Amino acid sequence: MSPLVAKIAWIVMVVGWYVLRIPFERKAAKARIARDELALAERVRLTISLTGLGIIPAIHVATGFPRAADYPFQPVLFGLGIVTGLAALVMFRLTHKALGRYWSVSLQMREGHKLVTEGIYRRIRHPMYSAFWLMALAQALLLPNWIAGLSGLVGFGTLYLLRVGHEERLMTETFGAEYEAYMRRTGRLWPKAGAA
Ligand code: SAH
Repeated sequence: MSPLVAKIAWIVMVVGWYVLRIPFERKAAKARIARDELALAERVRLTISLTGLGIIPAIHVATGFPRAADYPFQPVLFGLGIVTGLAALVMFRLTHKALGRYWSVSLQMREGHKLVTEGIYRRIRHPMYSAFWLMALAQALLLPNWIAGLSGLVGFGTLYLLRVGHEERLMTETFGAEYEAYMRRTGRLWPKAGAA
């Protein structure tokens, strides 16, 4: 059974992530949508990610299920989980600040959508996905349960792998050469080595 401190840390991280989004969600809701990719594939990807990052760990935190997958609590892993979770929240905040009203849950293009290449987007083109990877890693470090801990990496990893190529095609269709040049000077999740 995960100790109370691990459960509380996971809850604080998820609530923190939710609260951080509120002002930006309002801003984004005001920007008219020009193109929405809420195809079935996108819904399936989002559901898989939500299950791994939200539903499975929430059931574990609330009920202890599945107990057979518990392993002993390790303070060092817990400490690393706190640091990783904080890094994820800071990164989320930076991505929302830079993307502003262009942010969306699904793949959408807003009316008058501009390509953001400043702030955290200057050298990384998917920093929000970097933040989600950090959040999934924090979940694995915080919850001493093989299933509830690792489900975030599996769930978000599936969304990421199935979505990122598609998103880059959509961005290239919208922004053309501007996005192609941006891709050349940035890394997907981490700054590209050698780029200015
Ligand atoms: N993949 C990005 C953004 C995720 S939010 C990241 O990880 O940081 C998804 C929406 O953001 C997409 O629908 C797309 O319209 C928009 N978007 C992604 N990159 C963008 C950029 N550099 N400038 C403006 N909008 C962007």
